[in-house]
Amino acid sequence: MKTYKDLAPSLRTIMTPGPVEVDPRVLRAMSYPILGQFDPEFTALMNETMGMLRELFQTQNQWAFPVDGTSRSGLEAVLVSIIEPGDRVLVPVYGRFGNLFIEIAERCGAEVVMLEQPWGTVFDPEVIVEAIYREKPNVVAMVHGETSTGCLQPFDGIGAACRSVDALLVVDAVATIGGVPVLTDEWLLDAVIGGTQKCLSVPAGMSPITYNERVEAKVLQRKTIERGLREAGSAVSDRRPVASNYFDLGMLQDYWSPKRLNHHTEATSMLYALREGLRLVLEEGLEARFARHRRHEAALVAGLTAMGMALFGDPACKLPVVTCIRIPEGVDGESVRGMLLNHFGIEIASSFGPLKGQIWRIGTMGFSCRESNVLQVLGALEATLLRHGVQVKVGRAVQAALDVYGAEV
Ligand SMILES: *Cc1c(COP(=O)(O)O)cnc(C)c1O
Repeated sequence: MKTYKDLAPSLRTIMTPGPVEVDPRVLRAMSYPILGQFDPEFTALMNETMGMLRELFQTQNQWAFPVDGTSRSGLEAVLVSIIEPGDRVLVPVYGRFGNLFIEIAERCGAEVVMLEQPWGTVFDPEVIVEAIYREKPNVVAMVHGETSTGCLQPFDGIGAACRSVDALLVVDAVATIGGVPVLTDEWLLDAVIGGTQKCLSVPAGMSPITYNERVEAKVLQRKTIERGLREAGSAVSDRRPVASNYFDLGMLQDYWSPKRLNHHTEATSMLYALREGLRLVLEEGLEARFARHRRHEAALVAGLTAMGMALFGDPACKLPVVTCIRIPEGVDGESVRGMLLNHFGIEIASSFGPLKGQIWRIGTMGFSCRESNVLQVLGALEATLLRHGVQVKVGRAVQAALDVYGAEV
């Protein structure tokens, strides 16, 4: 008989922009017994989780629930449910995840209008506002924090412009939710998609979303009820139905509503994990959590700069939870990452597309975003760069970070 070794994943210090380390309380929550999906104990947990998500998204929206699947499942659920073939969708792109919006919108049959901004910068919101008035799109889809470039897009005036041309504003806040303020109602965002494995520090496998009554109205126009679940004689919409059963927000919201209309089987252990992750976020407090992310970013940046490393991207729009470092001339970026992982057990990220081989990315997200991790990554990076023949300013990085932390003897 063939035997397989025991599962024994190494303990890592994960300093990437996701997935990040998970708080032991969340891991413990995942090991609890299964409840049936219509067990009142479980549906009570589902309702509580919806309430916690409203707090996280800073919204009064009725609808706030997780879609099962990684973050792109939330992006797909929103887009496939609101885009009808031939709809105009405006997508401002300043990194990889803007392109993901385009790809999904095109699969939904949209006529996509793309705006482009060089990677490492963001749009002047005025440019997007003008494009909204010019193009009169049905949907505007934008990324809040671009993990690929470490940039944060401001939203000034964009929500109001969308309302005045009756466009729905969909925002990818996968990288920012729980780490950087995301003011769903104040910024007039119609649908917001978050992720679990970034600043929430829950394993990958769910995508919390929220949307308002403007989105719901669109969803209800296209409402479908699964064959065999329709009550006798009940009518179904004559509009073009949503081209996905799994991602149909109309069906998902019926499942998450008191009707509990049967759809998928909710992912029990992931729901436990999300609820515990949200409990940790709300216990810490959103403002305190955002301040913690800024503090560790400041220490990391001080250390990297003191070492003599150059950062990538316009500092005016830097995303607090991702720091991009230019790989020094002549250094093999993958060799440095390999040494960090194999000798120090530390993971940092490489990058994609036009930035491949050009930058490393260090995440300071959620449970990974803490002093010991920042100090370790700085010390290990200094040693590894010296080993690669890079003339770093020796001994400065960790000291500069300790200064930010106000460390006393
Ligand atoms: C990570 C990320 C995604 C994709 O998330 P998956 O969970 O891998 O599907 C989408 N958008 C942004 C901004 C991200 O950082």
